[in-house]
Amino acid sequence: MAERLFAKILVANRGEIACRVIASARRLGIASVAVHSEADADALHVRLADEAVCIGGAAPAESYLRIDRIVEAAQATGAEAVHPGYGFLSENPAFVEALEAAGITFIGPSAEAIRAMGLKGAAKALMEEAGVPVVPGYHGTNQEPEHLAAEARRIGYPVLLKAVAGGGGKGMRRVDGPEGFAQALASARAEASAAFGNPDMLVEKYIRDPRHVEVQIFGDGRRALHLYERDCSLQRRHQKVIEEAPAPGISPETRAAMTEAAVRAAEAIGYRGAGTVEFIADGSDGLRPDGFWFMEMNTRLQVEHPVTEAVTGIDLVEWQILVAAGAGLPLEQEQIQLDGHAVEARLYAEDPAAGFLPATGRLARLAFPEGLRVDTGVREGDEISPHYDPMIAKLIAHGPSREAAFQRLHAGLRDVELAGTVTNLGFLQALCSDPQVRAAALDTGLIERRAEALCQLPALAPAALAWAAMVALDLSGPPAPRRGFTLWAPLCHLVRLAVEGEEHEVRLCLGDGRHEAHVGGEVIALDWRAGAWWTGAKRAPAWHREGDQVTLFGGAPRRIEILRPGAEAAEAQGGDVILAPMPGLLRALRANAGDRVAAGQPLAILEAMKMEHALSAPRDGVIAEILQPEGAQVDAGAALIRLTPEEEGQS
Ligand code: ADP
Repeated sequence: MAERLFAKILVANRGEIACRVIASARRLGIASVAVHSEADADALHVRLADEAVCIGGAAPAESYLRIDRIVEAAQATGAEAVHPGYGFLSENPAFVEALEAAGITFIGPSAEAIRAMGLKGAAKALMEEAGVPVVPGYHGTNQEPEHLAAEARRIGYPVLLKAVAGGGGKGMRRVDGPEGFAQALASARAEASAAFGNPDMLVEKYIRDPRHVEVQIFGDGRRALHLYERDCSLQRRHQKVIEEAPAPGISPETRAAMTEAAVRAAEAIGYRGAGTVEFIADGSDGLRPDGFWFMEMNTRLQVEHPVTEAVTGIDLVEWQILVAAGAGLPLEQEQIQLDGHAVEARLYAEDPAAGFLPATGRLARLAFPEGLRVDTGVREGDEISPHYDPMIAKLIAHGPSREAAFQRLHAGLRDVELAGTVTNLGFLQALCSDPQVRAAALDTGLIERRAEALCQLPALAPAALAWAAMVALDLSGPPAPRRGFTLWAPLCHLVRLAVEGEEHEVRLCLGDGRHEAHVGGEVIALDWRAGAWWTGAKRAPAWHREGDQVTLFGGAPRRIEILRPGAEAAEAQGGDVILAPMPGLLRALRANAGDRVAAGQPLAILEAMKMEHALSAPRDGVIAEILQPEGAQVDAGAALIRLTPEEEGQS
């Protein structure tokens, strides 16, 4: 390779893809420039880059979509090339032309290639000419509703209406018969106009049991080769959720036919760089050499490219940079081999139970397990803001077989520790262990059909509630001898918890190295051994607490709220002793020995977790003794105030 690589590149993107591009650049010895919005001033991609330039406000239209600002930033920092990532300006031919006019290399295809593939209808016509199978349908210019309806009849129902300028599943409607056509057309048009400023539609045969299989290609402007296929059939509302490579069950003949068609498509437009040719396949009878059709070509890196990297051992970003620098394709087709199976899951801040509503929040805890590739653009403490896509990370597992890869991904998802926002982690775990998914009985409708089961979180085990009570009382550490314990043992605490709106009571009785939790009629023993707490054979899960919110990890993360952490949560034998429910500072005493008090009357203020908690009288009675002075630092479970026993006090 005689070509000189770039000395410095600018990454015109944010989040995980910007971080990922910067990492490859660094490996190649290339300096990187990040651009960022005002909202992203402290973002991970800014931290990782060698230089960073602020290009405007939080809204993408004010920053990441500003061609002028990005070109200026490249010129000001002396970047020789720009990597666009995906989304934002990655498929914008005007961006390519603006960079070229400024003498800066675009790491990607030519403006013409992007234009050729930009409109679905024109791209299909081009592919038909090149001998690539396309979905039967109408992609002409006559947009009269009557004409489109006639075409739908000719094609045969069900049909799919698609926005020619579409993307991300917008402006798409399935129509099952002529009676629904006019209305579906009107609503698809309205959506397409709003999203893309172009109401034009194409009509396609709706493929039954559809599987989404796509081929990763690479071109040098003349020749192209492929890096095998990915199956992205696990989708929700036409958006990919889990992707894998290779496609399960694909025969050598089907693979040959599909990869050849993809290479033909790339060569037909003199493609340079990384691209993906997407096919829709009829999966009703397995993948067949004559059962797949061109849908569209994405002229950029795809979100799911890591599964291809895992099974080919090739760094696609490195190849993009090399090819853009004028080096030829680094390998010949025969040198690209498949190794095992890889699967990727997209972890999002969203609420599956609320129709996958995007969520925001500060990632109070974020830790990923070993053994997976994790592509992320955020760190613990970062904010998932409403300005951008709420993806938190992509988790990629690689193994010798499909089963091994899925097992690894599933185990990895269970070990993710994440708190501070609601996520699709439980949903991804359910999807990864779904019997149909594991049996590779895939089609693009699988998630929708099984949504209810997949979104349902498993019932919370009593042991989890027992453990949450331990966390609530700050007893999760080693069982240290505590002040007050021997005096008033055995001590029991009543902890009230709320999980997804449902209330639970845990009565936790403390012993020496063994506690007993009474939960809904069950008694659960918690033992301290081997440096941890155990319930039976199970080690207590990892957890995170912020204020009164406890998140338990190790499975679908559960958010548990501690209710009324004041005096009502602490109760001793006979209700005579008021205990500190958590360690803290005894800020104030509101009663003296001999005082008559009423149930609920605040007796002391404990400052803990940066909050003041009022500890109130559990019943009417008379104060027998104050056991700790004002200003004392007390442990959880410490006895603070003793009431005179019931009989005496009633005199
Ligand atoms: P977009 O560009 O909006 O993402 P695509 O054309 O890539 O739209 O299609 C998105 C998804 O819609 C595909 O992955 C597939 O699940 C489904 N789909 C597209 N075309 C068809 C078709 N003709 N029949 C059945 N499903 C289809």
